Amino acid sequence: MSDVSPSPPPALDAACALFLDVDGTLVGFAAQPEDVRLPPQVRDWIARIGERLHGALALVSGRPLAQLDHLFAPLRLPAAGLHGAQLRRSAGETPQPAETAQWLHDLHLQAMRFAHAHPGVRVETKGQALALHWRNAPAAAQAVAAFARAQLPSLPGVRLQPGNHVVELVSADHDKGSAVTALMGMAPFAGRMPVFVGDDLTDEHGFAAAARLGGYGILVGDRGGSQARYRLDDVAAMHDWLRAGAA
Ligand SMILES: [Mg+2]
Repeated sequence: MSDVSPSPPPALDAACALFLDVDGTLVGFAAQPEDVRLPPQVRDWIARIGERLHGALALVSGRPLAQLDHLFAPLRLPAAGLHGAQLRRSAGETPQPAETAQWLHDLHLQAMRFAHAHPGVRVETKGQALALHWRNAPAAAQAVAAFARAQLPSLPGVRLQPGNHVVELVSADHDKGSAVTALMGMAPFAGRMPVFVGDDLTDEHGFAAAARLGGYGILVGDRGGSQARYRLDDVAAMHDWLRAGAA
C-alpha cells in the first residue's frame, strides 16, 4: 500500500462513475446504526450529481439495501448492500430478497449468547451477514474479534470484515470491489472512470477495484495504509466536496 496523497481530491469529473460508501463517509456514526440521519441537502446534492453523471452513481455499503432506501428516501439509487452481497444495478431494479443464509441461523444463537455475556455488544443480523457492534462496549473489542475468528473454521465460504467498532461475518464470494467491478461492466457505468469514496477497511476493496479500472479512491478520515489516492478530512469535508460537485 502506498501513502495517500496529502493533496485534496480533484473536483468531481463529469466523466466519472461515482461509488459512495455511506456510514463514516456521507453520515457520521451514531450509537446505533438505525439512529443515523442523512441531511436532506446532502441527499439533494447526491441526486443532482447522479443526474450530472447520467445515472452513474451508486451507493456501496455494508447495510442491507432496504436500510439504504429508508435512509435516502425518496431517492432511490443503484446500490450494493451487505458489502456487495446484494446488488441493484439500476434504480428501477427490484433488489433480490435478502433470505437468511442457513449458516446465520445457528450463528445468531451463539452470537446472542456471547452478547449476553458482554453487555453493550449488539448483534445485528442482516439476512446474509451478521455484525457484532462493540461501539457501546469498547472493553469487549478483543473478545468480539476472538469470538468472530473462532466461528470461521466451521463456516466455509464466510470471511471476517472488520470495520469501525464492528466485526462482521460476511459471504466470502463478495466484497465492495466485486460490486464496483460488476457495476462497471454495464451501462451507465461502463466506459467511465470509477471514483470510490469511503472511510473504512471494507472500502479498501473498492479503492483497489477503482484503481484497477483506471480510476482512484478517496479516503474520508485519517487512516494509514490505504490504497486510496486522495483524502478528505472528515464527513463535513466530504459534504463540501459533494456540494461543489452538485453546483
Ligand atoms: Mg463506512
